[in-house]
Amino acid sequence: MAARALARGVRLCSSSIGRSLIFNSVQKRGIAACIDPSIGLSDEQKEFQKLAFDFAANEMAPHMAEWDQKERFPVKAMRKAAQLGFGGIYVSPEVGGSGLSRLDTSIIFEALSTGCVSTTAYMSIHNMCAWMIDTFGNTEQREQFCPDLCSMQKFASYCLTEPSSGSDAASLLTTAKLDDDHYVLNGSKAFISGGGDTDVYVVMCRTGEKGPKGISCLVVEKGTPGLSFGKKEKKVGWNSQPTRAVIFEDCAVPVSNRLGAEGQGFSIAMKGLNGGRINIASCSLGAAHASVLLARDHMCVRKQFGETLASSQFLQFKLAEMATKLVASRLLVRQAAVALQDGRPDAVSLCSMAKLFVTDECFSICNQALQIHGGYGYLKDYAVQQYVRDVRVHQILEGTNEVMRMIIARSLLTES
Ligand SMILES: Cc1cc2nc3c(=O)[nH]c(=O)nc-3n(C[C@H](O)[C@H](O)[C@H](O)COP(=O)(O)OP(=O)(O)OC[C@H]3O[C@@H](n4cnc5c(N)ncnc54)[C@H](O)[C@@H]3O)c2cc1C
Repeated sequence: MAARALARGVRLCSSSIGRSLIFNSVQKRGIAACIDPSIGLSDEQKEFQKLAFDFAANEMAPHMAEWDQKERFPVKAMRKAAQLGFGGIYVSPEVGGSGLSRLDTSIIFEALSTGCVSTTAYMSIHNMCAWMIDTFGNTEQREQFCPDLCSMQKFASYCLTEPSSGSDAASLLTTAKLDDDHYVLNGSKAFISGGGDTDVYVVMCRTGEKGPKGISCLVVEKGTPGLSFGKKEKKVGWNSQPTRAVIFEDCAVPVSNRLGAEGQGFSIAMKGLNGGRINIASCSLGAAHASVLLARDHMCVRKQFGETLASSQFLQFKLAEMATKLVASRLLVRQAAVALQDGRPDAVSLCSMAKLFVTDECFSICNQALQIHGGYGYLKDYAVQQYVRDVRVHQILEGTNEVMRMIIARSLLTES
């Protein structure tokens, strides 16, 4: 993928990261080395990071307010991103993916989300589903689904949550009863990102006993009789992607669409989410990075009491704290990504720690950036409010931050 980027001769000057983020343009400045997300990366990583920042600046940021306000699912822009290899970043090249590492993926999602958190976050879920099919599917399944997902000709949704099972996901009730060469699905999924607009649904459903061991994972294609969708939810943020209930009423799905063995579904779902948590945390990082730049630029131009806000030591300290938390967050995400890539025993806890710490800290950074903007930060003409609204949900989904604490505490108390 990096070679593709080079062939296109894509280059990005550092200041363009900040430049395109603001609906009302303010001062155009560079980035201090201490918060530069490219510091310490390999040359190849810097190349695809530039590619992602460039895509964010040119293809996403100019539209992010409109996608939000008009609730547009930007299919064309995402297909363009897929041409750069962003539709299956950590999917194997033999089925159309880019074959990059979890760290590389985090670097890309962080950069993309500066241009639109909501769109990037949907792309991260799509990537997670493509990886699940690539990793747990057989040859036929991988060849059937992955190429179209990697090119984003088709879009995917991850279906775990139900109206009565959120944090306690293993208590899910959607049933899949075996009938000859089909499973017959009945039940419903809640809050499904992309739901109704996507083509491929990776569905966790009950084929056996109560609890996690009775859960299997089926791929359900749009158009399957018995599959329908609820109304589009009205949300605080994440408005460039639809969220709907996904409903199964005697929905017959071929047994050949089952990923892995019967009873393996919960484990597949959780393995997908380990990477998903790093990806979502990376989207928060991008928003926080952008927000620090916006706050800094606003401080340099806004004058009160006869001097710029940047002259206030209180606000200087505030900005310094925001930058410090941003960099600490980035270090933790990258550490977790490496642990997951290497299959280390601390990977699950580190992914949870990264999701907990980074989504909390980055929400706080974005919110403080809004505060530094004063009343202007509350206006939809200014990008900072959209970052705040878009990252808020990262503390809730892919396992709430309370659930992250449970996973970390379990590891601390039971592993020795
Ligand atoms: C915009 C959006 C998009 C989403 N996209 C998807 C998707 O694509 N696919 C999907 O499957 N799901 C999706 N979700 C669902 C999301 O994963 C769930 O909302 C989340 O897991 C929490 O479940 P819940 O909403 O049922 O909250 P609940 O489980 O009811 O929890 C309510 C609150 O109680 C806390 N809590 C619960 N139990 C405990 C406990 N024992 N101790 C301490 N605190 C506890 C929770 O942390 C939370 O703060 C999405 C949600 C949203 C809002």
